[in-house]
Amino acid sequence: MNIKKNYINGQWQAAVKGATRDVINPCNAQVIGIVADSTAEDTQLAIAAAKSAFYQTGEWRRMSGPKRADFMYRIADAIKARLEELAVLDTLDNGKPLREARCDVEDAVACFRYYAGLIGKPQGGVYEVADGFGPMHAYCVHEPVGVCGLITPWNYPLLMASWKLAPALAAGNCVVFKPSELTPLSAVALFEIFDQVGLPAGAANLILGTGPAAGQELAQSHDVDMITFTGSTRTGQIIASAAIGNLKKVGLELGGKSPNIIFADADFEGAVEWAMIGVFFNQGQVCSAGSRILIEESIKDRFVARLAERANAMTIGSGLDDPDIGPIVSEGQLHKILGHVQLAKEQGAKLVCGGERVTEGACAQGYFIRPTIFDNCTRDMAITREEVFGPVVAVQTFKTEEEAIQMANDTPFGLAGGVFTTDGARALRVMKELRAGVTWINCYNPTFNEAPWGGYKMSGYGRDLGVNGMVEYQQVKQVNINLKPGPVGWYQR
Ligand code: NDP
Repeated sequence: MNIKKNYINGQWQAAVKGATRDVINPCNAQVIGIVADSTAEDTQLAIAAAKSAFYQTGEWRRMSGPKRADFMYRIADAIKARLEELAVLDTLDNGKPLREARCDVEDAVACFRYYAGLIGKPQGGVYEVADGFGPMHAYCVHEPVGVCGLITPWNYPLLMASWKLAPALAAGNCVVFKPSELTPLSAVALFEIFDQVGLPAGAANLILGTGPAAGQELAQSHDVDMITFTGSTRTGQIIASAAIGNLKKVGLELGGKSPNIIFADADFEGAVEWAMIGVFFNQGQVCSAGSRILIEESIKDRFVARLAERANAMTIGSGLDDPDIGPIVSEGQLHKILGHVQLAKEQGAKLVCGGERVTEGACAQGYFIRPTIFDNCTRDMAITREEVFGPVVAVQTFKTEEEAIQMANDTPFGLAGGVFTTDGARALRVMKELRAGVTWINCYNPTFNEAPWGGYKMSGYGRDLGVNGMVEYQQVKQVNINLKPGPVGWYQR
């Protein structure tokens, strides 16, 4: 098996210490790849390459907007040309159903195109200002931040890479990217594409390895000007404190325990299906998952019964066979989920369906768990407060709109939330009160490159996607111009 290497300064390089790690297919625990297992030493080489490319060579940041956009479009086209291969890679690596992986690749293509299109669009501003020592004129420009470290998780390998790499590169930064050690294969393919389109050496560098060994250096290095991270709130806190040394810019897209509020007047079957999409999509390994269903008491029994009927009918199997539910990403994550299930039972939640590992047939060797619903959940239970990151949903009931809002916001997180009702005014009233960055009315989960994505409270700060997503990777410079050069007579002698 070919060992996949780091990509530093335009060259494929083995880890300095020569270490490698196996990449595992969660569907059957087979080894599907071998990758470099880097340490801080490798990360330092990548940072040095990005620093030199940004501050010395400067080719990428000085490149004209249209030329940089052309690179971005060519990257998008090359991803599109490898769509099926990349989708299969993410399915093998992460376990997700193939049709979901295909959507991820399409979204990655659209993301590079979106940011290519944003290059050169009006930014900054021109200001009419008061006379200083004479007539003055002021404007501001957006400039790249410099060297950016980008760290992503395993739930959307190619897509999360694109959410960060596309705006960071479009803004003219030089980057060091570290994907999750669990799902690095599509990132390697993406850097093959960068190499193929001839991105200037050092503009984009790839480090393969674990977070503590290879990623932490990106957060703490004084040569890195910005770090952006998607992942758990705990790791986000570690990164934010490591970043303090040189006060680098930090962007954090963290976890959630997002409420999906369903009123009795909602379209019933629509709400059931969207609730499933909200919590079972990608095996529930979604930061914005609607993992708390808050439902009006009068329809709770009927709703839970229908949800369980639909959940029990979901097909489970290898992602390549395109089931409804594939395997969980790793054995460790599977056991973590099973631990949450056990605790929920011990704390008195009522298990309605699922809650167990699938041990029969073709699933026996992999990390499969049935879609799981807990009823009769209360605010003091861990299942309503902690992120499970698996196909597990906790159902709570409410009687009034006020109670629904109070319950929805009763969490340290604030990433996402949904509301289902046919009363438009109520939908808007609830939206206004939800303390969350990404919200939906009568649907759950659709996301678009055009709209900014990120959380309130302990779900992080900063935004991916949209114009905001590019501004995150920029500094704003003020330029003040004296329109009448010459002495102004301030110091009289
Ligand atoms: P982490 O947050 O630990 O990992 C996400 C990324 O951060 C990975 O690339 C990881 O590297 C890296 N990382 C880990 N520690 C450090 C560090 N000290 N410095 C720099 N980078 C680091 O998530 P896990 O994969 O461990 O999953 C744990 C839990 O996090 C899940 O159960 C889930 O609850 C939550 N999670 C939330 C996500 C979200 O989008 N909100 C996404 C993924 C997980 P590596 O994995 O290679 O070691």
